[in-house]
Amino acid sequence: MSTFLKLLFRNRLAAMGAVILAVIVLAVLAVPLLPLQDPDVTATADRFKRPFTDGHLLGTDHLGRDLLSRLLHGTRLSLAIGVAAALIAATIGSAIGIIAGYFGGRTDNIIMRTVDMLMAFPYILLALAIVAALGPGLMNALIAVAAVNIPFFARNIRGITVGLAGREFIDAARLAGMGHARIILTELLPNVLPVIVIAMSTTVGWMILETAGLSFLGLGSQPPQADLGSMLGEARSAMISHPHTSIVPGLMIFLIVMSINLLGDGVRDALDPRLRSGALSRPLPTTLVERSGDIPEPTDDLLAIQDLHTQFHVGARNYRAVGGVSLAVRPGECLGVIGESGSGKSVTALSVMGLVASPPGVITGGAVRYQGEDLIGAPYETLRKKRGDHVAYIFQDPLSTLHPLYSVGDQLAEAILSHHKIGKAEARRRAIELLRDVRIPNAESRVDNYPHEMSGGMRQRVGIAMALANEPDVIIADEPTTALDVTVQAQILALLDDLRRDRGLAIVFITHDFGVVAQLCDRVAVMYAGRIVEEGPTTAVLDAPAHPYTKRLIACVPELGGGRRELAAIPGLPPVVSDLPAGCAFAPRCDKAQESCRAGEIDLKGSAPRAVRCLYPEEAV
Ligand code: ADP
Ligand code: MG
Repeated sequence: MSTFLKLLFRNRLAAMGAVILAVIVLAVLAVPLLPLQDPDVTATADRFKRPFTDGHLLGTDHLGRDLLSRLLHGTRLSLAIGVAAALIAATIGSAIGIIAGYFGGRTDNIIMRTVDMLMAFPYILLALAIVAALGPGLMNALIAVAAVNIPFFARNIRGITVGLAGREFIDAARLAGMGHARIILTELLPNVLPVIVIAMSTTVGWMILETAGLSFLGLGSQPPQADLGSMLGEARSAMISHPHTSIVPGLMIFLIVMSINLLGDGVRDALDPRLRSGALSRPLPTTLVERSGDIPEPTDDLLAIQDLHTQFHVGARNYRAVGGVSLAVRPGECLGVIGESGSGKSVTALSVMGLVASPPGVITGGAVRYQGEDLIGAPYETLRKKRGDHVAYIFQDPLSTLHPLYSVGDQLAEAILSHHKIGKAEARRRAIELLRDVRIPNAESRVDNYPHEMSGGMRQRVGIAMALANEPDVIIADEPTTALDVTVQAQILALLDDLRRDRGLAIVFITHDFGVVAQLCDRVAVMYAGRIVEEGPTTAVLDAPAHPYTKRLIACVPELGGGRRELAAIPGLPPVVSDLPAGCAFAPRCDKAQESCRAGEIDLKGSAPRAVRCLYPEEAV
């Protein structure tokens, strides 16, 4: 609640609206306590007194009634009617919307077509028709305004409910044996309530205007009762000769509607959880770069990550996710990057093409060179041309990377067309070819499938096909097989292996699985807390791990046919990267750690291609 208020008042306009509205509401609530004159007593001798005359602060109207008193009484009525209409419309409309959305099918159809019919009338005409049928009067105006706004709520809430009703937690509630009423009240309602509140806060002002409109036409409040609309209506004839009689209620309507709308917008923004977490502050097209220090010299590798530093600046905290990583691949080579979850593998991979979200991500040092050209800080267009065309990514979750509403063929074609100008038919032919390349059976018919019609393994293969679409030179695969079962994983690894042999593709393969590394990679780099702690040819590292962390990681892997042995889990947790210890980050979990390990920076040492960042390595390298 307090964060809600803080967010709300950070928005200056909303705060202004809240203050104005609060003043008006307080004044209106205090009406019975204030020494006001009777709003309905006429005194024809005092007609059209100007504002600030004695006894009449805002002057008098055409019947000599005190304008201030009429204004406050009228405002009270108008606010009450507007809020009541909004509450009624929101309650009935939302109930209709939830029922239509939850039950779906024919219920939905009948209800929504009726609502559509109501919506097809111009609403003022509808309101007039309702008042004409019921007869003029404030109560009937309220009913009319509420009725014409019901479809608005029904439509909005139905849309949200339909989306929610298909979700798993509703299925789970059904499976748990809950009745419809209980599901609607305890599962659906809490989820749509924020939307109802938001819709209400943005329409109350509108409904006050509509009620005032009906009263202005003489269909709402009846004389002598004052509301803002009828005050305006009565003042119409004296608009030129005595403008204050119309300006006073007019200004009040303006203030009320303005302040409610400003506040309503503020409430909407403050209630939106995405805005609250700051996720809607849109990321820049490329990662922010604030490099200090020297930029490393070019090498003749195909892709070289050189002393890369990537951090997340969140509030006052500084998460050093990648703290000086150097990696390189040549054509046809596969480099494995291995490490526990949270060790900075994904951030390293995303930094290559400037894909780390900024804010909060910032690249603070180092270089990423593709064929010698530094990509860090390169203009967006340069990176865009390389993304997907020269350097392609395969991500972990195949369902979230495919668009649910396009067939996989269209998505493959789109990937090709964004870099190459070829015809539609040609792109489709190429898409089928790609699906065949990744061993999808019946590629000709599968090309028209939607992602949900495919299995997880197939979707991941589509993801790989997409990465291959433009024949890139480098593929960065971020745990591409983690979500798959072992047979599919083996197929995909074999596929990647073929591709690099046939096409000379360079692969950076990120994983936490030593089995996968052993099967596919020529070299492997072990990451811990944002740094490389050991690297070398795969067989050398696996046979004789030099860093205690690597050794213990390998000891965690169960071996088929290796007989029964105790699996040695590594005690403790990886450090939080906002608060890294001095010296070796693994020291707190290492049983060989000495004082010197915690003293200061430890270099990556060894004779290339082997290297280890440890003062007391298990093996000399
Ligand atoms: P992994 O090795 O499992 O791929 P990541 O590279 O995704 O790990 O994450 C590295 C570190 O960066 C983690 O400690 C994570 O908490 C941190 N991190 C990642 N994204 C953000 C972010 N948006 N804000 C703050 N910290 C982040
Ligand atoms: Mg990751």
